[in-house]
Amino acid sequence: MEENAHAPMQSPNNSFNLNEQKQAILAAIVNASDDAIISKTLQGIITSWNPAAERMFGYNEAEAVGKHISLIIPADRMSEEDVIISNISNGNRIDHFETIRIAKDGSQVFLSLSVSPIIDESGKVIGASKIARDISGQMAVQEEKERLYEQVKALNDKKDEFIGLASHELKTPLTSISGYLQILSNMVTDEKSLLFLKKTRQQVKKLSSLVSDLLDVSKIEAGKLQLSKESFDIRQVFNNAIELLSYGNHRYQMSLETDIDELLITADPDRVEQVIINLLTNAIRYSPGTDRIIIYLTREAGEVKVGVRDFGVGIAPEKLKDIFIRFYRVDDANPTISGLGIGLYLSHEIIVRHKGRIWAESEPGIGSTFWFTLPLDQ
Ligand code: ADP
Repeated sequence: MEENAHAPMQSPNNSFNLNEQKQAILAAIVNASDDAIISKTLQGIITSWNPAAERMFGYNEAEAVGKHISLIIPADRMSEEDVIISNISNGNRIDHFETIRIAKDGSQVFLSLSVSPIIDESGKVIGASKIARDISGQMAVQEEKERLYEQVKALNDKKDEFIGLASHELKTPLTSISGYLQILSNMVTDEKSLLFLKKTRQQVKKLSSLVSDLLDVSKIEAGKLQLSKESFDIRQVFNNAIELLSYGNHRYQMSLETDIDELLITADPDRVEQVIINLLTNAIRYSPGTDRIIIYLTREAGEVKVGVRDFGVGIAPEKLKDIFIRFYRVDDANPTISGLGIGLYLSHEIIVRHKGRIWAESEPGIGSTFWFTLPLDQ
């Protein structure tokens, strides 16, 4: 039987009955197969055509056998046949070759083809057997997936573009508002007005910082986040950050545990300060009802290691791996604490761009420690 191409054909001998039985089994398999099984000569003339081939291509056995295989090959794919025949003539198989064939009604059939040489008793290649699996369904699913992916990507790009534009547009009026508020503060003298002005300025500051974060996100997405590195004392950055945050958060005692007086590193001081303030702000925001934050600053083999520890709500272990993802928030755990899920993403990007590492350790109900390292020399 031609389709049994894996072994040389046996000549009829005294095991004739056994051969006949084997051939009957193979014929039953070929007839029952869902895959088209076709055999052809090396000249491309079809010599067998199973029922699945009839279902797949629309030609019945009588219409196909004796015809050239080009019957089902699209004009622009004729050269594939030469490649197949040349491989087969050299005794090579072709496995899972994805291609297109044409059915009798002119429709395209997406196929995965496996072709094996048919070898006669003298070991000579006399033809080819093809197994063709209809993968139109798979292709349609794949095409739909690709289409949806492109659609989501385009929408995502539009969203990033919008965030960039919106934050840019918001920044200008915010800067003017801050300026006018400053002028007003210098003009107003009564206490109540001064208090309201102070509160307004605090809110404008919060808004400005949110808008800056959004602008940073779009800069990162566009690959435009610039670092301007210089040598500075990281301990001093901590001193400043603690002073700044203690001012509005009297309840929290922020202690810096370190034996370092001064540690010069080469990095972008504004961006490093941004990370430190972000971690300290989170430590305060996610620790309601507590009053202590510990900051660790150590020097280890060529790098500085920083830790910010709080005794707040903590983070469930399965959420820990996601907290540095853009816009990710552990919402269900802290429904009352508002935020955009940007701070840790920005911190991660800034630290990684400095060739450092950032990670968190946490236990729900006990607290969290956020760590980062930065190389001393870059
Ligand atoms: P935001 O705080 O604005 O939501 P972040 O990117 O700073 O965004 O943080 C992402 C999420 O990680 C937060 O929503 C919060 O669930 C969690 N998280 C961050 N810092 C802490 C912390 N110190 N303690 C507990 N959860 C935290």
